[in-house]
Amino acid sequence: MRYTDIAIIGGGLAGSIAAAMLGRAGIPAVLIDPHQVYPFDFRVEKIGGDLQLERFGRTGLAESVLRSATLDGENWIARFGHLLDRQPSRQYGIMYDDLITAIRDEIAQPAEFICDKVVNVATGSERQKLVLSGGEEISARLVVLSNGLNVGLRRMLGIERLVTSHCHSISLGFDFVPVGQPAFPFAAMTYFSERPSDRIPYITLFPIETGCVPTSSPTARPTIRGCARCGAIRSRR
Ligand SMILES: Cc1cc2nc3c(=O)[nH]c(=O)nc-3n(C[C@H](O)[C@H](O)[C@H](O)COP(=O)(O)OP(=O)(O)OC[C@H]3O[C@@H](n4cnc5c(N)ncnc54)[C@H](O)[C@@H]3O)c2cc1C
Repeated sequence: MRYTDIAIIGGGLAGSIAAAMLGRAGIPAVLIDPHQVYPFDFRVEKIGGDLQLERFGRTGLAESVLRSATLDGENWIARFGHLLDRQPSRQYGIMYDDLITAIRDEIAQPAEFICDKVVNVATGSERQKLVLSGGEEISARLVVLSNGLNVGLRRMLGIERLVTSHCHSISLGFDFVPVGQPAFPFAAMTYFSERPSDRIPYITLFPIETGCVPTSSPTARPTIRGCARCGAIRSRR
């Protein structure tokens, strides 16, 4: 049986940030996740806006983590085929797996990472007990359940989800390249839809550097990865 103060189940954005912050605060913690390296996933691809950046800054991790992100610096605003404005901008583009890797790099003793899956959790008034798929048992004073959409452990603990809105949004991602020019003239762009009936509020394009080499682009010129609602301009490192 391994003993710790806080056991964190799930090393996505929530769990990894918690582990890094606890380690920095000198609180013994273990972060348990089945993936040593977070796999590619189409999710949050930028951190931006004063509120979000201010909140991220309060974790104490922003300065080091955002070094792995790409700052746009300026955002063009367009609608009806016309450029309406050019605004100073602080959007940091980063792929979700790169974001998690950068945050996990900040996890330091007395917090540590365990690559495994939690298969059972039993709670008590003083200590909580976790069982990992490899058979190891962990005793913790507190458990942080941050395993995303996985419902198994949540149900085991009798935690119900309260759905406050039944509406869903859909994000579409796509890559594209400038044609007949080496690069796009803008660093980032937000294009607002022209009619409410389009049912797409806006498309945002913003730069993300990735380590991957797109097979569709044999040259060194940047490709654009865009999304309706959220999107990205991607260039190669
Ligand atoms: C397309 C898309 C776009 C989005 N855009 C935005 C956005 O712009 N802004 C925003 O704020 N949010 C956005 N979101 C939502 C955001 O991605 C999530 O809120 C956030 O990633 C959730 O992080 P998390 O750490 O809670 O979960 P996750 O990142 O899902 O992490 C859960 C972790 O738990 C682990 N796990 C699961 N079961 C176990 C187990 N039994 N034992 C151990 N580990 C386990 C998994 O391996 C995983 O690593 C978007 C989501 C999508 C899909």
